Amino acid sequence: MTQEELFKKLIAHCKEYGYIFPSSEIYDGLGAVYDYGQNGVELKNNIKRYWWESMVKLHENIVGIDSAIFMHPKIWEASGHVDAFNDPLIDNKDSKKRYRADVLIEEYIAGIRGKIDKEIAKGKKKFGDAFDETQFCATNPNILRLVEKMEAVQNRMREALNSDDLDALKNLIIDCEIACPVSGTRNWTEVRRFNLMFSTQMGSVSNDTNLIYLRPETAQGIFVNFLNVQKTGRMKIPFGIAQIGKAFRNEIVARQFIFRMREFEQMEMQFFVRPGEEMKWYEYWKKARMAWHRLLGFGNEKYRFHDHDKLAHYANAAADVEFNFPFGFKEVEGIHSRTDFDLGNHQKFSGKKIQYFDPDTNENYVPYVIETSIGVDRMTLLVLSASYDEETVVKENGETDERVVLRIPPMLAPVKFAVLPLVKKDGLPEKAREIMEILKFEHNSQYDEKDTIGKRYRRHDAIGTPFCITVDRQTLDDDTVTVRHRDTMEQERVQVSALASTLDKLVNMKYSLLELSRVSEI
Ligand code: ATP
Repeated sequence: MTQEELFKKLIAHCKEYGYIFPSSEIYDGLGAVYDYGQNGVELKNNIKRYWWESMVKLHENIVGIDSAIFMHPKIWEASGHVDAFNDPLIDNKDSKKRYRADVLIEEYIAGIRGKIDKEIAKGKKKFGDAFDETQFCATNPNILRLVEKMEAVQNRMREALNSDDLDALKNLIIDCEIACPVSGTRNWTEVRRFNLMFSTQMGSVSNDTNLIYLRPETAQGIFVNFLNVQKTGRMKIPFGIAQIGKAFRNEIVARQFIFRMREFEQMEMQFFVRPGEEMKWYEYWKKARMAWHRLLGFGNEKYRFHDHDKLAHYANAAADVEFNFPFGFKEVEGIHSRTDFDLGNHQKFSGKKIQYFDPDTNENYVPYVIETSIGVDRMTLLVLSASYDEETVVKENGETDERVVLRIPPMLAPVKFAVLPLVKKDGLPEKAREIMEILKFEHNSQYDEKDTIGKRYRRHDAIGTPFCITVDRQTLDDDTVTVRHRDTMEQERVQVSALASTLDKLVNMKYSLLELSRVSEI
C-alpha cells in the first residue's frame, strides 16, 4: 500500500468510526472545515489535556488563560498581521488553480532531495557494509550536481522572500520549469500577496472602523494579558502563559484533510524571559517539546527539527518540529524566539507601559519571549496516521482474517475500556453492568453487548480501545474477567477487585507526565 492509499483509507476510517466528518456534509461540505465526532472529540480532548498538564501542571511558573476570539483591531496592526500576514499566491491560467508560490518551489526542492536520497540508496546497495555516506556525498558527481542545484534554488527563494520580491519568485518558478500539477502547463499569472485573516463587522469598535478580525493565532490574547496575569498571579520572570483556543486563517492551499484547515485550534505557550537569556530558553523548549512528542512512542526517527532560514517578522530564531506524515515530513509545531517584538509593539500602539520590574537586577524591561505553538488538529492527524495499522490475523482454526487497528497510545485513546458480556443472558449483562459502574468513574468506558464477541473486538480495535474486558460464565464462579490487549490480542484473567488498579497503570496519563517531568528538567 502506498502512503497515498494509506492516507485515503485513514480519511475514510475517520469518518466511518466517528472521528472526523466533513463540515456541513449534507450541504456538500465546506472547504477545509471539519467536525469531530464522538471519538474524535475524545481524542482531541485527551491531546489537549496531555499538552495542558505538561505545561501548567508540570511547571510551577506556567499558568493558563482563555482569551476572547474577538479582539481590538489595533492588536492586529501592532502584531504585524495586517501588513505582513500574507502568502505569495500564483494562479495557473489553464487549470484556474491557485497555489502558494513558496510551496510550489519547496515541493520542487523536495523533489531534488528525493533524487539525492535515491542516489545514496543506490550507493548503499552497491557498496554494502563498506559504504561511507559522508564520503560518497562529498565525491559522487550526481549528488554534487544535485546539491548545487538545490542550494541555488534555495538561495534564490530565500533572497526573493526576504526582499519581498514577487517578480523574482515568479522568475524562479519559470526557471525551474515548475508545471501546474493539475493542467501540467507552465502558464502562470504574476505572484500576488493575499492576507490570510478573516474579517467581520462588530457594532462600532473605534471611531473610524467597525472592522474586526477573527484571530489568526491565539498568541496575541496572551500578550495583551501579560500585565494582568503577571500582576494578579505575582509571576516572576521567567514564567509562561498557556492557552488553547480556536484560530482562523483563510488558507488558499487547503488540502490534506485536517492538516491545513480554515478554522482550527492551537495550543500556544508564551514564555517570558530576561533579554539576553532567550537562547538558553529557546534550546530548553526545543528539547522539552521534542521529549513531549517522543514520549508517545511512535518512533524517534519519525520526528526531526527544521531550523528556519527565513525568519518571520518577529523572530530571531525559529525551528519546526516536523513529523513524517503519510505525505512526508511536515511541520506539526513551531518554536519561536519572538524577542520583545510583540510586547514592545503593544506598548507602542496602546500607549500603555508594558514592562516588568526585575527585583533581582533592579531593572525595568520589556521581556523577551519564547513561544511554543502547536495545532491540536495537526497533532490529532499525527496521532491517527501514526496509529493506523492493517494486520492479518491467524485465527485458532488456522484461517486468516484482516483487522484494522488504531494503536493510539492508551492515555490518548477515546475509550479506554470496553466492557463486554460474552452473551446477552445467564446474568452476564448484569455482572458486566456492575463492572461498568466501577470503571466508568475511573476512565472513559463503554458497555457493548451487540453482535458476536469477535465483531465487538474488531469494532474496538478499529476505534483504538486498548482494553476489552469480557465477562463470561467463569466470572460468575470466581469473579475474574478476561482482559484482552488491543495491540497483541493477548488475553489474561484478572480479578474484578484488582481490575481498576491494574488497568489504571496502563492508561492513566499521570504516569507519562511523571516520566516527562524527569526528561524535561533542567
Ligand atoms: P504552515 O507553514 O504549515 O502554514 P505556520 O508556520 O503558518 O504553518 P504557525 O503560524 O507557526 O504555522 O502556527 C503554529 C501551528 O499551528 C502549526 O505548527 C500548526 O500545527 C498549526 N496550524 C497553523 N495553520 C494551521 C491550519 N491552517 N490548519 C491546522 N493547523 C494549523
